This record gives sequence, C-alpha cells and structure tokens, in this order.
Amino acid sequence: MTDAGPPAPGPDLRVDPLTQTPVLVVRARQGRPNLPATITPANCPFCPGGLEAPEPYTVRWFENRWPPLPNGRAEIVLFSPDHYQSLGSLPQAQMEAVVSLWAERTEALAARADVAYVLLFENRGPEVGATIPHPHGQIYGFDFVPPVPLAELEADRCATCQELAGKGPAGPSHPGRVVVAEGGWRAWCAWAPAFPFELTVAPEDHAADLPGAPQHAGLAQTLRAALGALDGLFGEEMPYMLWCHQRPADGKAWPSAHVHFHVAPIHRAKGVARYVASGEVGTGVMFNPVDPEDAAERLRKALRVG
Ligand SMILES: [Zn+2]
Ligand SMILES: [Zn+2]
Ligand SMILES: [Zn+2]
Repeated sequence: MTDAGPPAPGPDLRVDPLTQTPVLVVRARQGRPNLPATITPANCPFCPGGLEAPEPYTVRWFENRWPPLPNGRAEIVLFSPDHYQSLGSLPQAQMEAVVSLWAERTEALAARADVAYVLLFENRGPEVGATIPHPHGQIYGFDFVPPVPLAELEADRCATCQELAGKGPAGPSHPGRVVVAEGGWRAWCAWAPAFPFELTVAPEDHAADLPGAPQHAGLAQTLRAALGALDGLFGEEMPYMLWCHQRPADGKAWPSAHVHFHVAPIHRAKGVARYVASGEVGTGVMFNPVDPEDAAERLRKALRVG
C-alpha cells in the first residue's frame, strides 16, 4: 500500500501430506513493525487522524497493510472511532453500522472471481493476538472454501434449522442453552463446544449469508447482549475469537448454509485461560470442563439489565 519496502513474495499454499491441512506460508508478515508497548489515542493508527484513518468516520474498512492473503483479499474493519469501545459495548446504532459494513464487504469480496469464501472475524484481546486495542476486526477472502466451513456445509440438511426446530442430537436441550434472543436472532451455548462459554449466534429463519439475512437490527441487538454477557461473566474484558460462517462465494447453491457467528471466549474463570493442549490438538477430540446448560444459565445472569 505504501512504504512497505520491497515487494513481498506471494503467499505459498501448501497442504500437509500427513493431515491434508492447508497451510499458507506468509513470509511478508515477519516484516511487520513492532508497535509501541502502549497504544493510546495519541499514537493509535486506527483513531481518527491516525495512519489508517486520516478522516473522521463512523465505521471504516481498508486493505490490510501486512496482508496474510494477496491481491487486496485481506481487510481491516474499524468498529468505532472511539478507542475505548469494544464490539459488545457499542450503542445499538453503531453496531448496526458494523453489521451493514460486514454485509457490504461480504458482497463486494464475494463478487470477485478470485474469492470463493469470505470470512469475517475478530480477535479480541492481546491473549488472542490483537496487537492494537482499538476495536477492529478483519476480513479474509479465500480463493478456496476452507476445511472448517466446508465440513459444516457438507451435511445434506441445515443443522442450524434442525437444532432451532428441536430436532437432531442438539434439538431437545436447545431451549435451556439459549442466552438471548432479540429481533429474529438468537445466541446460545453450543451443544458440543470446544470452549466452556462458546456461543453460536444465528437468525431464527434460514438465511444463507449476511447480505441475504433480514433483521440486521436483531443481529446487532443479540450480538451486543451476548458479548456484553461475556464481559459481565467474570467482570473482566473477556478475550475471545469471533468468526462468521456464511455461504461460500463460489457460485454453488450450498442449501445447508445458514449464516451464523461462533464466539469462542478463551477464559474458563477470571484471568484463567482454557488452553487447547496436546491431548486435544493431537487427537481432534475436545474436553470441555463446563456443562453448556450451566454455562448458558451463568451467561443469562450476566446479561446487562435494560
Ligand atoms: Zn484508537
Ligand atoms: Zn437453516
Ligand atoms: Zn460454523
């Protein structure tokens, strides 16, 4: 984009011969500058007037200066001009602006011939690698459908609609795992979560992707409440990973694609990380110390009143 030095070699997609896991070797990112230890509005690149946001804004997107994917397929999204906000503390109108921007960027990237899958995500907190505290997320446009969403999509019917209708293994206990439901969207503790307080957020009616999903105000309300409950749970800013799964942009029908967000909070108690360690990484089998029905009850109690 600017003075980033000599052109970086393109990313190199390799597939591990043992596990078949795709690995992008992104050499250019080792050249990222070290940021100051403390980032305040005075030296923040995302605050209005900063390097990446020279003009005033409500929400803003731009190409990632240190892209893990080439050709303008990695973007940064600024959720608020206010350095000290977080996604879960945004006012309703501001969150609706974020949702609109997510939908708009999904459409724009999905329209490209070299994009087969759009992933919206946020890493919240230094514990999950967020180097700048200013509220922001990212978008990747993959030129293939990655294995995790692909595995979800290969079912011949919609697992989310099944669960919402009380069917399948997750259906019967679904009502007890609901944390909040507003405006046609619902947030619930996952039936078989890898993280103790992991949430799924989805529209109650089947919709394949964010641009096609109605009730963006309902998504904004539900997500704000759910993320607020995560911060209320232990009275600390919960570090989490958040990502949105939606229909691939490869032109196929994908009838089982039902847009949803996964929110994976990494703490299991105040300041205590839940590590995914050898027994789990080495097997693909997760061990979760908290009953999801209990997790939902604790999160309901942590919802802000009013
Ligand atoms: Zn800032
Ligand atoms: Zn569905
Ligand atoms: Zn998913």
